[in-house]
Amino acid sequence: MFVPTMSRKCCGYWLLASAMLLLLWACSQPLKPSTLERVQKAGELRVVTRNSPATYFQDRNGETGFEYELVKRFAKSLGVELKIEIADNLDDLFLRLEQDKGPVLAAAGLIDTPARATQAQFSSSYLQVSPQIIYRQGQRRPRRPADLQGKRIMVLKGSSHAQQLAALQTELPELQFEVSDEVEVVDLLRMVDEGQIDLTLVDSNELAMNQVYFPKVRVAFDLGEPTNLSWALAPGEDDSLLKEVNAFLDQVQDNGTLQQLKDRYYGHIDVLGYVGAYTFAQHLQQRLPRYEKAFRQEAQVQSLDWRFLAAMGYQESLWQPDATSKTGVRGLMMLTLRTANAMAVSNRLDAAQSIRGGAKYIAKIQAQLPESIQEPDRTWFALAAYNVGGGHLEDARRLTEAEGLNPNKWLDVKKILPRLAQKQWYSKTRYGYARGGEPVHFVANIRRYYDILTWVTLPQLEDSQLAESGLHMPGINKRTLSENNPAL
Ligand code: GLU
Repeated sequence: MFVPTMSRKCCGYWLLASAMLLLLWACSQPLKPSTLERVQKAGELRVVTRNSPATYFQDRNGETGFEYELVKRFAKSLGVELKIEIADNLDDLFLRLEQDKGPVLAAAGLIDTPARATQAQFSSSYLQVSPQIIYRQGQRRPRRPADLQGKRIMVLKGSSHAQQLAALQTELPELQFEVSDEVEVVDLLRMVDEGQIDLTLVDSNELAMNQVYFPKVRVAFDLGEPTNLSWALAPGEDDSLLKEVNAFLDQVQDNGTLQQLKDRYYGHIDVLGYVGAYTFAQHLQQRLPRYEKAFRQEAQVQSLDWRFLAAMGYQESLWQPDATSKTGVRGLMMLTLRTANAMAVSNRLDAAQSIRGGAKYIAKIQAQLPESIQEPDRTWFALAAYNVGGGHLEDARRLTEAEGLNPNKWLDVKKILPRLAQKQWYSKTRYGYARGGEPVHFVANIRRYYDILTWVTLPQLEDSQLAESGLHMPGINKRTLSENNPAL
């Protein structure tokens, strides 16, 4: 009886000693750095994304896109460099997440679907979107899921939409759809627009971004409930980086940054309205090519961006050389007779002359602005002065300063400009009453058109005319598309 008791005791001591040794050993080991620490140590945040207008693409001014802008701010908040990596397609994107050794954040307009739970950890949401069935104007509009049967439908391979349609197939066995990893959402929309496929399923934000390029594309119906876009991390990573992501997303939500980005990238449907967006798309294809050369030429003479001049022309006359108004302004750039005379324009209805006069005039106004106004505000002030007159703009700047705001910032002055229409304010100004709200809309519209034109015209297209190129959207090449899809 005695011996076993002793041996139990021994065993106990031995266990205790080993546990202590293990503890000592564990303490002497360097701790594995957290995901966040690894990012900080590397000094860079690697982000994998899709090359598409709604996520990331290059324009003449460099890198841009909603995801890019947001993730750039996140990297800045961490104090690290941003390194963008482009996935070939969605399968490749998730593969990179899973297989990559270093931490990689995916920011690619991704939906947090249940099927992806094993593939990634998702952040909180930064945008709510609806999956939308898209059809071509002139075709019978599908109204419910059953109407999708018998149609040629294509979606991105590996997408939330492919998952959604696959789930629907269990209820609708006759539903067929194709998937492709050679195309992007813009291709799908173009294929619907050109009648190569009957339908596609895309997120509402992607449609909003691209609607202006595809005049015939229409929403049939929303398929299912609204869903959330989130960023994603590899399933094996700890939650240190994810917590930072979520805190950052909260912060940009609270301080208005997120809203600003949404307005900039997805807001033109709100501003133009659906009808305006279709119309713009039509005019872009039918009218702009006739005047593009003149816009480029005159912009170069005056050291302006031709798309800015083209945006002005669209605001003024929807690119119509014979436009006239009751107030006596005329032509593509809607010049007054006085301005036309001052700019040596003999025939305002001649498009080339009108563009030349308008370019000269806006360049002159811009040159007269005080030095204290810097770009890009300088351009917006020039437009406001063009619209409401330099004197009234000066009045608004004085009022702005009196309010303790910055008279050199468009963001501040545009808040004050509408006051020029209220007696309590304009009675104190030098030039008196003005429709101060108008220049605010005028500038907002032109900025919107300018943004759209910037998306449509990529650096590689700069030498060719839009009409000749046949390319009306970022990142897409018709030839590549059909080469990759011989069936099309
Ligand atoms: N949001 C989609 C996804 O999460 C990708 C884009 C699309 O298919 O429209 O898979």
